[in-house]
Parts: sequence; C-alpha cells; structure tokens
Amino acid sequence: MIKNGRSFAPLLASLFLLLCFSNAPAQRDDARFDFYARGPYRENVPRPQTTTRFDVGDFHTNYATMERVIERIAAAAPDRVRITDIGETNEHRMMHLVVITAPENLQRIDQIKAGVARLADPRTTPAGDAARIAAEMPLINFMSYTIHGNESASFEAMMQVVYQLAASNEPATLDILKNCVVLINVCSNPDGHERFVTWYNSFGTGNAEPLAGEHREPWSVWGRANHYRFDLNRDNLAATQVETRNLQRAYLDWNPQVLVDHHGQPSQYFFPPAALPVNPNLPPAQTARWLTEFGRANAAQFDARNWDYYVRDVFDLFGPFFWDSWPALNGATGMTYETDGGGTKGYNWKRDDDTIVTLRSAIAKHFIASLTTLETAARNREARLKDFYEFKRSALDEGRRERLRRIVLVAGRDPARAAELADVLLRAGIEVSVASEEFRATKAHAYAASGGTTTAAVAAGTPRTFPAGSYIIDLAQPQKRLAKALLEPETELDPVFVRDQLARFARNQRRGGNAAKEEYGFYDVTAWSLPLVFGVEAYWTEDTGAVASVQLRQSPPAQSAKDALHASGEKLLSRRMGVSGRAQVAYIIPYETNGAASLAYRLQRENFKLAVATRTLNAGGRDWPRGTMVVRVSRNPDTLHEAIGRLANESNVEVTAINSGFIETGDTSIGSENVISLKRPRIIIVADEPVSQTSYGAMWWTLERYGVDFTPMTIDNIRRANLDSYNVIIMPDGAAGRYLSAFGTSGVNTLRAWAQRGGTLVCIKGAAVFAALKEVNLTSSRLVGSDDDEQREQKTDDAADAKASPTPTPAPSPATQEAANAREQTATAARTRRQTTQTATEQQRDAQDKSEKLEGAPPDLPPIASPSARPGRVPEAVPGAIFRATLDRSTPLTYGYEDAQLPVLVDSAYFFRPSKEGTNAVVFTSENNQPLRLAGFIWPNNTERLLRGTAHIIEEPTGRGHVVLFAEDPNYRGFWRATTRLFFNSFLFQPTF
Ligand SMILES: [Zn+2]
Repeated sequence: MIKNGRSFAPLLASLFLLLCFSNAPAQRDDARFDFYARGPYRENVPRPQTTTRFDVGDFHTNYATMERVIERIAAAAPDRVRITDIGETNEHRMMHLVVITAPENLQRIDQIKAGVARLADPRTTPAGDAARIAAEMPLINFMSYTIHGNESASFEAMMQVVYQLAASNEPATLDILKNCVVLINVCSNPDGHERFVTWYNSFGTGNAEPLAGEHREPWSVWGRANHYRFDLNRDNLAATQVETRNLQRAYLDWNPQVLVDHHGQPSQYFFPPAALPVNPNLPPAQTARWLTEFGRANAAQFDARNWDYYVRDVFDLFGPFFWDSWPALNGATGMTYETDGGGTKGYNWKRDDDTIVTLRSAIAKHFIASLTTLETAARNREARLKDFYEFKRSALDEGRRERLRRIVLVAGRDPARAAELADVLLRAGIEVSVASEEFRATKAHAYAASGGTTTAAVAAGTPRTFPAGSYIIDLAQPQKRLAKALLEPETELDPVFVRDQLARFARNQRRGGNAAKEEYGFYDVTAWSLPLVFGVEAYWTEDTGAVASVQLRQSPPAQSAKDALHASGEKLLSRRMGVSGRAQVAYIIPYETNGAASLAYRLQRENFKLAVATRTLNAGGRDWPRGTMVVRVSRNPDTLHEAIGRLANESNVEVTAINSGFIETGDTSIGSENVISLKRPRIIIVADEPVSQTSYGAMWWTLERYGVDFTPMTIDNIRRANLDSYNVIIMPDGAAGRYLSAFGTSGVNTLRAWAQRGGTLVCIKGAAVFAALKEVNLTSSRLVGSDDDEQREQKTDDAADAKASPTPTPAPSPATQEAANAREQTATAARTRRQTTQTATEQQRDAQDKSEKLEGAPPDLPPIASPSARPGRVPEAVPGAIFRATLDRSTPLTYGYEDAQLPVLVDSAYFFRPSKEGTNAVVFTSENNQPLRLAGFIWPNNTERLLRGTAHIIEEPTGRGHVVLFAEDPNYRGFWRATTRLFFNSFLFQPTF
C-alpha cells in the first residue's frame, strides 16, 4: 500500500481507490486514509486536490498553490470562511489567518471578538458579565501549522482541515462551527516551508531508506528555520522575527482559549499532557485539567484506529518561548502536536523495525487530532471560556499579593536597549509605563545581585530611588503570568524533575569512560530572564507605591519586514538623535549604544575616516569613556557634515560636534596619540556545512540590522580565495571536529598565515573549540577537561593518554570526503570527544525537535564516551544558564562596557583555560567567593568549580593579527543583547590593534 511519491495517478483513479478503502475497519497507519469520510460535503466547495492536481501526501504543496486552495474554498464558502492577512514575511509572502465558523457567528464576528476580549480583563468585567459572555459566545481556537517549515505533514493537513470545516455538513463538524471560531494560522513559517518543498519536490523519489539523500536537507535549505535561520518556536521570548511579531499581534487580537501548534516528526505521534517541567507561572490545576481533557479525547480517537502515540515523555511546557507555553501563559490551553512522518522523513521512511511511515499517514494523524481537538473544544465551550476569565482573575489576584509585585527597568547608559526591551513587552500585550519623575521603593532587589524571587533565602529588599524615565511593569495586570515568566530573575524548575536529573548525574559520574551515559531531560535552556539577557539594569520590588507615570502604547505594526528588522523600540525614546551642530574640529560618537557601532561602520563604508580613543577622551568640556569614536574634520571631505547627520539619524545616535581641540583638563584630546585611526572591517563569514545554521542566522540578522556588510563564503572558497582583501573572518558555532575535517591541515595553515599577516579570526563556540585543538593550535587556550588540558589532574594512566593522543589529520579532498568523514568519527572524535558529544547534542537541539533524534535525521556524530574522562575533572554540559562574568576594561574588546560585570550565557561544556599569550577579555573570576551563577540549572560540585577561573572571551595575538575566541554565541537566538557589542568589537576594533 505504500505509494511511491512520484506517481501522479489521475484524480478520478484516486477517488475510486478512496471509495474502495473507505469502508475498511481500523486503519493501519500506512493504509490510504480517507480524508473525505466525514460528509456530506457541500458540492460547490472545491477539494484541495482540484487545485493542487495531486493526491494528499503524494507531493508537497507550495505556498502560492496553498493560497489558491484556501482562496477557492473561501470564495465558495463565504458564509463560513473569511481569509485575513496578518503581515508579510522577509521574503514577501503574506501570512494568513483563516477565520472559519458558523454563518450566524461570522455575521457578528466583531461582536464575538469584543465579547471574548472582555473576558481577558477582569478589572473592567465583573464576574456576572463574564458568566453571561461565557454562556453566549463561541470559543476561540487558534490552530497553528508549520512553524518548522520542513515539517511538511502539518502544512498539508491544514488544507484538509480548512476544507472539512468549510464544506462538511456532518453534525459533528456543524457543532464545531456553532460553538467555535476556528482561526487557522495557515503557516507560521512560509519562507522555510518554501525552501524545503522546492528542494524536496525536485529531488525526492519516495525512497524510504533513511540514508537516502532526500532525508537530509542541504546546508542552505534547512526549512525548519525562517529566512534568517531563526527557530521561530524559540522566538516568542523577544519576538525578534517578523513572523513572530505578526503572529503575536494576530493572537492577542483574538484572545484564544485553545491553541494547537502542529509539528513533526518523532517516532510516534505526540500530544499532551506535557512532560515535566511545566512553567510554574501556570495555574497547575487548570492547566492539568484541560491538557488531560484534550489528551484523553485524542487518545480515544488514536486508540480506535490502532495509531501509536505518546504523552509526557520529552515535550515539556517550561520555557515561555514555545508556541504552546506562550499561549498557555496568555490563558489558552497551549498544545504541541507532533506527527510521525513527512518532513525530513519524506514521502516514505523506514523505521527501525522495517515498517514504513508515510507522509500521507502523518497528515491523516494531524487531521484527526485537529478535528478531535475542535470537537472537544466545542463540547467544553462554556467551561473553557469561564476558565479563561478565571485565569486572568487569579493572575491579577496573585499580582496583588505575591512578593514580586513590580519590575523596574532603568534606562541607564544605553536607553535604546532598555526601550527595545520595553517594546518586546508591549508586543506581548504586557502593560508597561514610564516614570515621569523620580520615585522610591522601600524593598528593592537588584537582578545583578542574584537570581531567585520566591525562595525564603532571598535577602530582604533595600530602599532604592529610581530616576525618571525608568520603565515600570506592575504585576497586578491581566498579563501577569506572561510578564512574570519573561521577566522574573529566575524561573523555578519542578523539584521532582530536578531530583531526577541529579540522580542521573550521580549515576553518570559513577559510570566508566566507555559506558553509555544517561541522557538528561532538559529540553531547552533553563534561564532567559529578559533584563539579564538584554543586559538592562533591573530591579524587582515588593512594594508598589504610586508613581507619576505614563502608560506606553503598543508599537504600530511594521509597514514591511524590512521595517520590522530595524524598528526596535526607538519610537519609545524621547531623546533627540542626530548631530548637535556643524563641527569645526571633529564629531564625537559616544560608544554607548549598538547604533554607534552601526554609525561607525556606515561612515567607514562611505569612505570616511574614523579614529577611536583608547583612553578616556577629553573633548567639548567633558570626559568620554575609552572606545569613544572621533571623526576629524581635517581628515575627511566636506561631504562629512551632511553624511554624519543623515547616518546618525538612521543609526539612532546622538553625535556631538566639537569646535576646539584644546582641553582644560586631562591628557587625551582629539589630537592625542591615543586616538588611533580605525581600519575598515572587510568581513567573511563561513557559511557552509559544519556551521550551525542558527549561529550563522543570528549573526546575519544582527549584522543586517545594523547595516554591516559581510561576504558569506564556503570553506572551499576560503581555501582558494585571495584572503588579503579581507581583514576579518568569522567562524560561527559549528562542530569542532567537522571544522577540522573541512579545513584540513592546509586550510588551517591558510587561516593561520592570513591571521599572521594581520587578519582577525573570530571563532564562536564550537569554532573556538576548533581553534583550541592541539593540532590546530590557533590559541594557547585549551578546553577544561580535554586531553590537551595541562591543568587536568595528572593521575591519568599513560595507556589512556596514548589512546587518546591526536593523530595527524591530512587535508581532505572532495574525493576523499568519505574517508574524512570516517576519520571524523574515529580519530578526531576521540580527541575532541567531550566537544563533539556536546556539539552533537547542540545540533540536535538546534536542528530538530528533541524527539526527532529518536528516529529522524541522524545526528552529525554519535556520542562517544571518553575513555580517560574522570568524574570531577570534566565539565558536564550546562543546559543554558546565566552567569556573572567579569570584564577586563583595558582591552578594545570591551569598549562600550563601563560596568565591571556582565551576565553571560553558558549553554555547553566549553570552559576555556585562560590564554597564556593573549588577553582574557571576559572571565569567570576566581578572585572572590561571589557565586557565578545568576539564574538557571547548574551541576553541583561541577559547573561552578570548573568554570571558576576560566575565560569566556579571549583575544590572542598571532603575528600581526589576532584570534578572538567566544566560548558561547554572543548573538544567541538574537535575543541575547548583553553581549552584542562584544561581538561588534571583535571586528570593529581588533583589525586596528
Ligand atoms: Zn517542529
């Protein structure tokens, strides 16, 4: 019964087949499921296949064809269906929300929307009104499809659901329409989906063999992510991407009570109840009640069809960035459904027991789960509406009495970043006001002091005065749960879950080097507090005294995706940007904002000459910190005056005109020897197979946002190119061993020689591990716990060391790529085992839903146990926690940072020994006993002990050039803003020094 994907049977023949098999009893999941068994259907409404010209699951529908499918259905069923546009993607595809409901509902749709909106604010809706609304109004269901563009069953199932709801007169379907407004989010990620289907449709043959080429997307395809290679199912935290902004706006416009996000493709189908941990800001009883209700209903349908599925297991509900937890924190029952086929499993996929799962069967499962969910929602309409109101009411109540009552963000030295953060909150429907005068709190707690908001161990608050212009988020608001989940210094993990992980850790520590290790249950990072990741000075207070303040309004929607790329909170700023006047001597660019880096780059791009003060600069009657940039009038053409005004405005920077070089105090004037001419950065970024797509993407997005050009280059071309026309090469995160195979010895030598001639090589995370490999040796630093780590205890027996010692790796040629891959999995893996093990984990996390590793695309490298690793000397990978790092404020890498400490992410086991030959620009200090951890999960007697004294960012001179190492990704997911300028500094200033 397995249908080859390339066979295009005429539609009539297919329909005949369907008729033959529609009366079959229990469906096997590889049988030809009948999508048209739930009629009678209105004959004028066209089935999707009349538009697509192929049967369900025989081919992939592209975005434009899908739009024709839903347009034709809507045109034939205007009484039930209305298509709304919710905004453009980066590649100019229009995103749609299809509204489907009974005709009598559609006629009063605005009234329904307004009525349900009243349930969302109990401050203005008394309980009696709420009960009446719940009795009268339909339930709002938000059905989301294809956030991961390569999870193709989701996309195809969506069209069948639209058709069923638009065309069927089946009583159960009519019941859904009467009791529900169904919002079909046709595709959360149109650009990624288009990349995937264009590639697969042209290449896939329906071969079920897991090693067939069609089950592995080429590097530049990777349809899971959006245009900028962001995983949109991690983006709700800071809504960096235009798709997320469009969806959040559409979502909040409707106040849904049920949301399903349709994914793929673990070994078996998954639906909730979710695994531990669950975000503690969710009301436990209500959350469990509805997840169980929907889970049971789905289970009954799946059981009846002999379909495999599971609940709990791996998919948790903890981080607020997912498209189940974010809606849940908004008051909906947020659910992730994962079907078992399609996507990278293609039309057919051979499981580990040689049975076949087909795209069509995976579509069928999503179809049944979607409809079952809607039936369950219809049945529970009034109770679920009441609970939505209750969710908001109890949230307000908690916000009035819990210890954490208010959060204050201080605009500080970088008001643009604080404004960006406020803008993120406004987009999420959170109420934010700005203080119009100074105010005082009696019990304030600094985020920088330590994490924790709920435990008794939290120290008593202290009185504190906040300046006018501070942002205030009071938690006594309907969005309290989401606000707290995004902003609290730390979100507590379920103690049962933690105990379980610690027990596994203890067992792993007792296991021998070659024994397989137990996996941990962390699905994603364990800390994300927005003030910490943005690096914005913040406090939470236990009191909420009255403050003269102005409530901020939500930013208007972006006019285009390009607009969304750049619009980032500046509308909230009251400061006037631009130039203070026409300079006689020089213009001063204070390096306080990321915009200043952008301005400096744009001026250089237009061939203007800039210099940077390496010490405190005295100019215009005041002091400017090191890193302040100077544009001398004498060194530039007259066009400077016009250009700097225009670019300062575009970059949102306040530039000061200076009319005299004479200084009354200090010793560093504009003309000083300590004001050094800057070299214009000419940047290559490695864009090729070993590179992490999300690391590359976050970099791409960040640079594009600030107008910095770069040339993406494959490794082959880097090996061939005349690199001397570039002075910066950036290697994004990627598996160290695979970087080594790809560059080979000759490639490494090319990089080294180029750096020694004056180039700056910037290595991020896995690339930094690559640089620290003994046989690469681009740095004197080594990984803690690696075989090359001299500080490791020397009790290691010689045999184990010999076994692990590096073997020279010849440069792979394309012809010997297979051999190189084999080496990669043996010799290289042995010496980089800690790293590659971790990187494989990283890539799984990056590249797939966790479950996919159970059967989906194989990980790049099998985890390899370390024969010589001994418990206590090797860091256990940290599942994304936030640590306090200390800056060396005498190096150009830390220009723009005036505080001694900085919150940074640790999301790996990559702890770097300090460089002996360079500058350790950002370190985890061992000088005092202040805890390093600010928030998130760490391993007892491992993480802090081994991290202390290591370096987070290293700059090491080599010849006339530099190698810069970042232990973690400074652009992580585009939301980690505290470290953006450290990244900018690596290419803006390093080429000069
Ligand atoms: Zn997914």
